[in-house]
Amino acid sequence: MDIPVKGITSKVLELMFAAARDTHPNEFACVLRAEEGIVTEILLVPGTVSGDSSAILRLHMLPIDLSVVGSAHSHPTPNAIPSDADIALFSRFGPLHLIIGYPYDMDSWKAYYRDCREIELNVV
Ligand SMILES: [Zn+2]
Repeated sequence: MDIPVKGITSKVLELMFAAARDTHPNEFACVLRAEEGIVTEILLVPGTVSGDSSAILRLHMLPIDLSVVGSAHSHPTPNAIPSDADIALFSRFGPLHLIIGYPYDMDSWKAYYRDCREIELNVV
């Protein structure tokens, strides 16, 4: 399995944890940008923090450019397993998709390839 994205900065992870906490119990969603195989930047999806729980649907509507390597979103429960909507989204672009489960910390997130196989991502 050749995944062009090998890592993510702890700074980006902490940003997403904070955003997920701010948005809780609604879902937070963003897209991921990578430089030289490391995720270094997130782009918030407009409207995500407006009070409904369908952040993932907004990701489906987002125009995706070539700098985007995937997505991340939160689940307000400790369950970081992709839902049916997540699986459909992951297959649409990629290769990397993160799900951040409650309580939004280093032990509660998972990374998936576009076919929903769980992958190991280095935190740098
Ligand atoms: Zn989800």
